[in-house]
Amino acid sequence: MIRVRFAPSPTGNLHIGTLRTALFTWLFARRHKGVVVLRIEDTDMQRSSTEFEVNIFEGLEWFGLDNDEGPREGGEYGPYRQSERIEAGIYSGYIETLLASGHAYYCFDTAKELSVERDAAMATGVPYKYSRKALELSEGEVKAKLDAGEAYTIRFKMPDSGWLKYKDMVRGKIAFDNSLISDFVIMKSDGTPSYNFAVVVDDLAMKISHVIRGEDHISNMPRQAAVFAALGATLPEYGHLPMILGPDKAKLSKRHGATSVTEYRDQGFYSPALFNYLSLLGWSPEGQEEFFTKDEIVSLFSTDRVAKANAVFDQRKLTWMNGQYLRRLDVETYEAVILEHLDAGLKADIEVLGDDALSKALLAVRGNLEVLNDINTYGAVFVKTQKEYESDIAEISFSESNIDVLTRFRAILKPEGFSRESFDAGMAVVLEQTGLGKGAVFLPIRLAVSGQKAGPHLGDFAEVVGVETILARLSYVISLT
Ligand code: GLU
Repeated sequence: MIRVRFAPSPTGNLHIGTLRTALFTWLFARRHKGVVVLRIEDTDMQRSSTEFEVNIFEGLEWFGLDNDEGPREGGEYGPYRQSERIEAGIYSGYIETLLASGHAYYCFDTAKELSVERDAAMATGVPYKYSRKALELSEGEVKAKLDAGEAYTIRFKMPDSGWLKYKDMVRGKIAFDNSLISDFVIMKSDGTPSYNFAVVVDDLAMKISHVIRGEDHISNMPRQAAVFAALGATLPEYGHLPMILGPDKAKLSKRHGATSVTEYRDQGFYSPALFNYLSLLGWSPEGQEEFFTKDEIVSLFSTDRVAKANAVFDQRKLTWMNGQYLRRLDVETYEAVILEHLDAGLKADIEVLGDDALSKALLAVRGNLEVLNDINTYGAVFVKTQKEYESDIAEISFSESNIDVLTRFRAILKPEGFSRESFDAGMAVVLEQTGLGKGAVFLPIRLAVSGQKAGPHLGDFAEVVGVETILARLSYVISLT
């Protein structure tokens, strides 16, 4: 049975990089009909908070990643928060096992003593390894120190020789020399387990078969593998994903703009578009196609096609893709999605224009939108007050040729039987009469009737605001000369 986990730490809002790891983990599981476990790694009590945990749940849900077991769903292998697992004594049980088998030992060295060791290693340029001074203590000495209430940590005894060799699902054959790795702390002096220990205990206890995570964890492999071996367990399969970089090739961070998933939601990204975009960040199916539904991605996903090279997060490409998604939606879905982002006041103002004005207006600006919130910028064009319109016009200068175009157009445009087609036909007649280029005809008309350079198809616009408004505006601009 394939069992995978996402293991976020609730020390910040759900980050786009963490989401990408969760996504690939989820895709792998769904592709192979496996089980997805959500585990909250909140052993760092100082930095973890419920607020961040809630943000993680919200982000995953909005993005469309579900899980079969987790803090909210429950499951056979719970609890699913490490803080609750500490309370349940799960880690201490494993610590006892490792102490008893000689794979772990008490260490009473003070922070100061350890820093002297570390500085000495630094000075000689040798990678630091703990001296194992604590191993020289006799059983009686250890007991006496414990009885006296001395502070201690518990360290894992790394094998002195041998190599950790495994085949990474993404990176292929990997080998680490065990003898280079220092004995590391598995239980901190405050009694909480360290990351490298807790993660192994949980992956083992939760019967995780495949671990997919960021490449920044690859250096932890020899430590985690050694703990697995000491517990007599076989190693799960691992796949380490390339990192996500900003456009300057530095690791993606706040400096590059929004990094939290809920910020993307709030800016008006449509989650299926982000899903499509993130899936292609470090993975690609065969062929050139870039647009895929969630189900298609699930059926195509394979770790064989995950790139080894880091991937660059390109906000412009994502924004473009988002706009493309909005244009491809069926009308009903599009309206439902966009209405969630439309300001209530603007909506009411557009509705006043006529029975189906709202629906026409939403469709008219569809081609202008990149993110959903753009609806409030582009939608405003339909409800400009006369004052706002006049002040826009005051900023524009119309040439003689422009005025000639507007005058001709006004003469052609008839209120009777008006439609978007008759509007377009009118503009075509002006084109023919004047022999001017499209820009020289369409732009002054656009500027005169809307007060702005860009916006919806003018025929659609005219259908929403009404031919009378169009004629009045043409006359207004013509009267200014
Ligand atoms: N809690 C770890 C993190 O957020 C997960 C590490 C792992 O997947 O092993 O980086």
